[in-house]
Amino acid sequence: MLDSALEVLRLQTSGEASAVEIAEQAMAAIEASQPTHNAYTHVDRQAAMATAKSVDARRAAGETLGPLAGVPVAVKDVLCTNDMPTTCSSEMLRGFRPPYDATVVEKLRAADAVIVGKTNMDEFAMGASTETSAFGITRNPWDLERTPGGSSGGAVAAVAAGTVPLSLGTDTGGSIRQPSAFCGVTGLKPTYGRVSRYGLVAFASSLDQVGPIAWSAADCALLMNVIAGYEPRDSTSLNKDVPDYTVATQSTDLRGIRIGVLRESMQAEGIDPAVQQAVAHAIGVFAELGAEIIDVDLPHREYWVPTYYVIAPSEASSNLSRFDGAHYGHRADGASDLLSMYCRSRAEGFGAEVKRRIMVGTYALSEGYADEYYNKALKVRRLIRGDYDAAFSQVDLLLGPVTPTPAFRLGDKIDDPIQMYLCDLFTVGANLAGVPALSLPGGFDPSGLPIGIQLQAPTLEESRLFFAGSAFQSLTDYHTKRPNQ
Ligand code: GLN
Repeated sequence: MLDSALEVLRLQTSGEASAVEIAEQAMAAIEASQPTHNAYTHVDRQAAMATAKSVDARRAAGETLGPLAGVPVAVKDVLCTNDMPTTCSSEMLRGFRPPYDATVVEKLRAADAVIVGKTNMDEFAMGASTETSAFGITRNPWDLERTPGGSSGGAVAAVAAGTVPLSLGTDTGGSIRQPSAFCGVTGLKPTYGRVSRYGLVAFASSLDQVGPIAWSAADCALLMNVIAGYEPRDSTSLNKDVPDYTVATQSTDLRGIRIGVLRESMQAEGIDPAVQQAVAHAIGVFAELGAEIIDVDLPHREYWVPTYYVIAPSEASSNLSRFDGAHYGHRADGASDLLSMYCRSRAEGFGAEVKRRIMVGTYALSEGYADEYYNKALKVRRLIRGDYDAAFSQVDLLLGPVTPTPAFRLGDKIDDPIQMYLCDLFTVGANLAGVPALSLPGGFDPSGLPIGIQLQAPTLEESRLFFAGSAFQSLTDYHTKRPNQ
């Protein structure tokens, strides 16, 4: 029952289950999963039960309820909540309680969703394994020795472990799509500006987006309907109408749709044969659904990772300067003067990966080096965006892998930042170009680990992703498989 939001809604309207019963079930599932998976940094049973109770009472009184009434939802701990801590899984913000809700959280509440808690993540969303969290690692429900991916590892594991049907993640360079691929669920990174970033603790402001995670594309569409839209408190928010994304999930006829296959990326160095096979298989499924398959190339793909790893740390070094022990965050005890208070607060509050990014970013922006690094990266970003424009003048969607390999073992890459950064080989392009991208369950490797496939669409064409994604899920059953625990 907790693996489909649409089903949770149906059970309530048919009178088969109350919101309180559903919330009780979510709480029981969280209590059972948490000691093993550690998907949550904070669980608020009281708040969840109170919301569920009021949904039931309002339903009984004949009131019109919101589109997610009584649906349990988990929220990544990088989004501000006025009734729960918001830590970004960092010592720097341990115990921090924001005085306001992020816009997406406000929207969840207005939709009558039942927010159950906050989910674990890589510290400040920097990472691809959820191992940099100050609140312990999160384990992949499919194989407890493996990472769920990151940085939204907790948000994805919360869905994959069956504790909630929906969660909110964020994606700066792949943090929704990569863990979705590792845990066999569906996740969308929307168009840059489609979902408000107000109340999202900033990592790299020109790349960050909030997006939905669920087992199916249809459930993601439901959540996307609630969170998308213009919002003046985010100056990069797009003032464009929001379509009903669920409409797009009702048709499965892909005739007339041209899908560009990133064939070159399927042969990239280090790519697991099972991933190649999953993409090849997906090509067959889309062809069967009527799509026209065309080979395309994004010629500057080899520069995606280096460009991202200049721009993202540069923006991070600027965004994270506010955490100085005075304006925000942990303050070191016993410093003798202001400068040493700043230095010691930051030294104590930030973990190793965050410090690495701040140092790299500060260097890339510094006088004498900015032209060589940051400004050059901005120019390459224009070329990358140009590749996408050229590709989308020929095709409606792009198809390729999400990650080079299935979920890797905990501990395997944490001491090797370059190996960790190479996890983002296929995901950062969409962030650099600002286009929407969807990760779909596309198969399993011989040992039973899930594999994701990725669809990318032109700016603001999320409906097309939901259309093709649910058509794919009408012919395949990968999104219906569950880890056996
Ligand atoms: N793995 C990437 C990084 O470490 C992406 C993170 C993200 O999307 N938040 O920066």
